Amino acid sequence: MSAVVTYWAEHAWLPHADGHAVARDVLIAVGPGGRIAKVAPESGPCPAGAVRLAGLALPGQANAHSHAFHRALRGTVQVGSGTFWTWRDTMYRVASALDPDSYLALATAVYAEMALAGISAVGEFHYLHHAPGGVRYDDPNAMGGALIEAAQRAGIRITLLDTCYLSSGFGAEPTDHQLRFSDGDADAWADRAARLTDAEHARIGAAVHSVRAVPAEQLGAVAHFAAMRKAPLHVHLSEQTAENDACLAAHGVTPTRLLADHGVLGPRTSAVHATHLTDEDVRLLSDSSTAVCMCPTTERDLADGIGPAKRLAAAGCPITLGSDSHAVIDPFEEARALELDERLRTRTRGHWTANALLRAGTEDGHASLGWPEAGRLEAGALADFCVIALDSVRTAGPPPELGAETAVFAAGAADVRHLVVGGRHVVKDGVHQLVPDVAGQLAAAIGALR
Ligand SMILES: [Zn+2]
Repeated sequence: MSAVVTYWAEHAWLPHADGHAVARDVLIAVGPGGRIAKVAPESGPCPAGAVRLAGLALPGQANAHSHAFHRALRGTVQVGSGTFWTWRDTMYRVASALDPDSYLALATAVYAEMALAGISAVGEFHYLHHAPGGVRYDDPNAMGGALIEAAQRAGIRITLLDTCYLSSGFGAEPTDHQLRFSDGDADAWADRAARLTDAEHARIGAAVHSVRAVPAEQLGAVAHFAAMRKAPLHVHLSEQTAENDACLAAHGVTPTRLLADHGVLGPRTSAVHATHLTDEDVRLLSDSSTAVCMCPTTERDLADGIGPAKRLAAAGCPITLGSDSHAVIDPFEEARALELDERLRTRTRGHWTANALLRAGTEDGHASLGWPEAGRLEAGALADFCVIALDSVRTAGPPPELGAETAVFAAGAADVRHLVVGGRHVVKDGVHQLVPDVAGQLAAAIGALR
């Protein structure tokens, strides 16, 4: 990913004494190792030899929660009504059709779609480990390896959050579909996950699928694995009230309390969704500096409810964003949803600033994925950034100094013109430079699963 090149952005959203501000005529020099050597605002016209980028440069977006194969469900799960649980049955049918080759093709196309949406790093919450029936592949990490390879082909960074998934509910064995997810116990999971290795574009993290899927007495083993490696640890938390009810029935405590009691919460941990929380749950998450990943386009698609993102942020939890089920892949839509959902709930405006929402999708998202050196346009950071048009039919009109507001409240994935990852120009003028015909590859990869 290393490149020595200088970019010149018409405008850029830069760290500033008061948080962030939009600057104009910004030189971004990339040095060896794909890191930013210098950021120079107000630098005058684009110099000869620099790559001119029209629009507003933002740090690359971090998609902190993804299940790549769910992209194959787009459209098909919008027919009729159903519940989270009937949606899950459809999702399991898609999962059953995948093998390492077909997952490589699908995930490459999905990650290329992410690149076109301005996403430079993905947190892949990966639990589709084994062949149908739970049969081990010759390489027991063949599926995870396919995801790492897919991110490489699509030119983005990945944190593979290898997920421990052992049971179908409290005290219940995995169902037939879930046999592909299970390693049997947490120690066997850890033995397999330990064989995964970092690459220049890839880091390894861990995940507890949920308190439904990992028995309480095995939660500590997963937390220990992550702690020994100082790796990110993610967990689905209280997305549905049924999970809370079942956890209370089985253990007499909420899922958040159960995770806290078994050492799962902490500053390297991200709780995903956190939709249905008690006051004590909010306190446990904030006291432990646990990050919370909101996935609002998925949460509304699955009728989960509106999570207490603002309350959690006010209590001190970093907030991050993910496209999760990929009902849509649009980091700007995820960002504005936090504010707009809160407006609908409270009938008041102004809970989040555009700057705070951009920070959730960039700096805090990257930190939650174990890339603390990305997500800021400043010297020393990884040279990962996207550029959105300020002259499209959606974004034309506002003055450039309102670029953050324009990005969050008006722009969409279709306004992304450029993506640079580690200094490499991955998306140029809206065209992916590594994956030709992303739409065609999505159609082919998804069609092959029918
Ligand atoms: Zn998820």
